[in-house]
Amino acid sequence: MQDEKGLLVVLSGPAGVGKGTVCRALREEDTDIQYSVSATTRQPREGETHGVNYFFKTKQEFEKMIEENRLLEWAKYVENYYGTPLDYVLDTVDEGKDIILEIEVQGARKVKDRYPDGVFIFLMPPSLAELRSRITERGTETEDLIDKRMTVAKEELEMMEQYDYVVENDKVGHAVERIRSIVTAEHCKRERLMEKYKQLVEVE
Ligand code: 5GP
Repeated sequence: MQDEKGLLVVLSGPAGVGKGTVCRALREEDTDIQYSVSATTRQPREGETHGVNYFFKTKQEFEKMIEENRLLEWAKYVENYYGTPLDYVLDTVDEGKDIILEIEVQGARKVKDRYPDGVFIFLMPPSLAELRSRITERGTETEDLIDKRMTVAKEELEMMEQYDYVVENDKVGHAVERIRSIVTAEHCKRERLMEKYKQLVEVE
């Protein structure tokens, strides 16, 4: 029997909605799911570590990765580059392991074009007011940057229709539970299992 490929799960939604928190909680509960560490040109925030939260790159280094086709997708977001290293993602799904990408919506659209088999989940804030307060609470951004992020967030919300699933992040635990249910259901999709059970079905 041929082994199933792992799932490429994209978790997207506006910055500040809690993608990072939800992803972290998901990884704590579900240690089987792999996580894609992105490359970025933005400065590390306090407590962030190279290779764990991001691969922090210079603009030149990032542009070289683009030229050499080493990114599955990339996007310019609030004046910085963000991108998903290609090899790790493809190797992981080929090994039959699930991987989650926590990325913004432009990048998610590019993944969908390149990898339509992916599972696309949109994390929804309970309200815009709640979203603004979450961005403000983080305390790492200036007023100007908060306004920019809110403008981007409103545009991002309109892209919801490109996703397979919408999960409201009212409580982290609820969101994680729903995402785990989605992953379980996706593994049971007939389309993904045809190859695996072909021999059984073909037996007279
Ligand atoms: P932050 O600067 O708050 O860490 O991230 C800003 C935005 O970039 C978030 O919406 C985050 O999900 C997104 N992001 C992080 N990594 C990637 C990536 O590899 N590709 C894309 N397209 N977006 C990313």
